[in-house]
Amino acid sequence: MKTFGTPFGIFSNIRPRGEIGELDTTVPTPHIDKKWRELLPRIEELAARAGLVYNPVDFEAVPESFMMEIAVYGLPVRMPHWSFGVRYISQLIQHRMGHSRLFEVVFPGNPGHAYLAAGNSLAENMLVTAHVLGHADFSRNNMLFRSSQQQVGDHIVEQAASHARQITMAVEEHGLKRVELVLDAALALEQHIDVDRRVQRERYPEYQAAKPEPPDDAFSKRFAALNPDEAARDEGPKLKRAAIPPHPERDLLWFIANYAPELEGWERDIFLAVREESFYFHPVHATQIMNEGWASYWHARLLREADFLPQGAYVDAIKCHSDVVRPIAGGDKVALGINPYHLGFSMWEDIVERDGMDAARRIMQEDDDVSFVRNQLNAELAAKLQLFRFGADSSGSVKVLETDLNALHEVIVGPKYNFGAPSVAAAHVRVDGTLELVHDYKVDGRGVDVERTKKVLEYVEKVWRRPVTRMTSMPWA
Ligand SMILES: [Zn+2]
Repeated sequence: MKTFGTPFGIFSNIRPRGEIGELDTTVPTPHIDKKWRELLPRIEELAARAGLVYNPVDFEAVPESFMMEIAVYGLPVRMPHWSFGVRYISQLIQHRMGHSRLFEVVFPGNPGHAYLAAGNSLAENMLVTAHVLGHADFSRNNMLFRSSQQQVGDHIVEQAASHARQITMAVEEHGLKRVELVLDAALALEQHIDVDRRVQRERYPEYQAAKPEPPDDAFSKRFAALNPDEAARDEGPKLKRAAIPPHPERDLLWFIANYAPELEGWERDIFLAVREESFYFHPVHATQIMNEGWASYWHARLLREADFLPQGAYVDAIKCHSDVVRPIAGGDKVALGINPYHLGFSMWEDIVERDGMDAARRIMQEDDDVSFVRNQLNAELAAKLQLFRFGADSSGSVKVLETDLNALHEVIVGPKYNFGAPSVAAAHVRVDGTLELVHDYKVDGRGVDVERTKKVLEYVEKVWRRPVTRMTSMPWA
């Protein structure tokens, strides 16, 4: 097992927390092209004039192989692990700007961190910089990002580094095999959080609420005075152990961390670390169309306005742009579906044209992809973008003809439900420790695959260490 990206290596320009408040501009590292460093303040000036408001961004040029690792593993310092590969393949495809190279990966925070491929041309870097500023504006102002950063903090890259150290120490103490098993399980369950609840949660109350006290009337007092022993025996709230969980629990990471009968402290810490990162990633998932569209809108617009760009660089950058927002993601042979960059970009252009920038900013602040697509993707735009040609079957391939607007919305937002995960909840723990899980097929009817659900259940069994039973309906649904 290797860990990479220690704070002293590639991330050497991550500043200690104390200094962050002093930052008021983005910070390029010296090894990024000099010309780019000169142009950065001018792009930022355009952005500020256009009303973008963002936390400072640390830009860093890294080798392309490293970019790929960041994209695959999700965070630059997460421990390399097979399931990251599986988990992030789809995100990798979506994070790829253009189709052959990865231009940038950006992590929101304060400061934000943007990694640029060291091989980018000046034109590519200009485009990427404007794009990153769009993301930075989005993640500072969008409600979901604000709420997640309030809870998880805005230093995720540093936190991930500390999680990676924690895991390295666990390996030294408990051996690779045991650590991998726990990490496998935690990562397999990483979308199983409940974003309607907070990151910081108390354990369930151990006892059910006591029955109301008997009325403190004259008779009771007299009785107590006459028979002190009897009265005392009857006193005190009638405590009854509360059922665990008191309601179906969707946050499996939290539930297992707190209630798995034989989980050790270090195992629990790994579960909680993965869970914290999941809360950080959730807004990225839930606003991908909006966010990529917003960043693409701004890179296009800022480049258009950047009359200081050398002509050649401008033309090249526009070429990159059309590659990024090509309608269909993926190569010629494989249709991977609607390109979120293209859809989001077109929707923002349409909104700004229709209702103006103030309205667009309000939507950017308040929506997630589900409300964004449902409220803003109207029939005219869908027809113009020729979206009605598309529909996804259960395997995710896109081919079905579709002309109903609501159906189209569902095709696009369906994968967003429940963080894209099978709907599995912990329903009950029996006296002998057996865990009852329920799987809501009704929610999963939108195409979440059964194989994944099976895997989830297998992993729960491994860490629960007592029998786990499964039911397939949700009586309360
Ligand atoms: Zn982007």
